[in-house]
Amino acid sequence: MSYRKQFIVKPGEKVNLHKIDPSFKDKHESHEKALPKIVEHIGRMDKLQYLLYADGNHSLLVVLQALDAAGKDGVIRHLFSGMNPQGTSVFGFKQPSNDEIAHDFLWRAHLRSPSKGETVIFNRSHYEDVLVVRVHKLIEKSEWSTHYQLINDFESMLSYNGTRILKFFLHISQEEQLSRFKQRLEDPARNWKISYSDYSERKLWPDYIEAYEDALEHTSTQHAPWYIIPANHKWFRDLAISEIIADTLEDMGLKLPSPHVDLDEIRNNYHAAEFEQAKQNNKKS
Ligand code: AMP
Ligand code: MG
Repeated sequence: MSYRKQFIVKPGEKVNLHKIDPSFKDKHESHEKALPKIVEHIGRMDKLQYLLYADGNHSLLVVLQALDAAGKDGVIRHLFSGMNPQGTSVFGFKQPSNDEIAHDFLWRAHLRSPSKGETVIFNRSHYEDVLVVRVHKLIEKSEWSTHYQLINDFESMLSYNGTRILKFFLHISQEEQLSRFKQRLEDPARNWKISYSDYSERKLWPDYIEAYEDALEHTSTQHAPWYIIPANHKWFRDLAISEIIADTLEDMGLKLPSPHVDLDEIRNNYHAAEFEQAKQNNKKS
């Protein structure tokens, strides 16, 4: 079965994250064994992103959401590194600025949404407004529970305008998170990533899981589906996400645009003349 079918949250489906094994790795034994497939998917993604850019009628929005240390940054580094920077961008959602707070919660997401031909990756997203704000009780339930419908309407509008939206929840276990915090503590190259808030947020794990389960249930739609990606194995996470992105782009029927000029006319009347002229100039010098 394709990972698109296997990991999708069907619209309205109740989600129980405890029942989903974050260590799932399918039939693949190891990173080494899965690597050729990951490389193949990344190659397809690169080619298709070029087509998306050239075609210019559609765009792609990839949303990455997860608890701390689940691998959002890793996905961006591993999977999007080969894509042409012209036409691709990443936006990280931090605590909203004063300007952002002064607008509706979807404003900053809309501002960064892809234009036609573009691929945009959201590292966190407008979903923080049904996750962190709920868990930390920054707003009332009556307010955050209204956000689901507003998000669905917003995404439906983007999709109507030609944006394919893929949303990934990276699912790790609490044990795996702790071992990744330890790596951050011990590995000098990762020391900068560790923070006090990693530990205080960890204490709120059950609240976050509940908030995620509700968000996944209420906002997985046909035009903007959620995928729950088992992410304890970083390589399996990369394998599944790259397959889903490549398969989705492939299904979009992207085409190179036909040339907007008469190629034969340019060959015969313009190019040939320029070529002759260059030859003459060469002789003179
Ligand atoms: P990081 O992704 O580690 O750079 O952290 C960004 C922080 O900003 C996370 O703790 C998010 O929960 C927080 N954040 C993002 N969006 C919002 C929001 N709408 N309201 C409050 N905090 C947010
Ligand atoms: Mg963090």
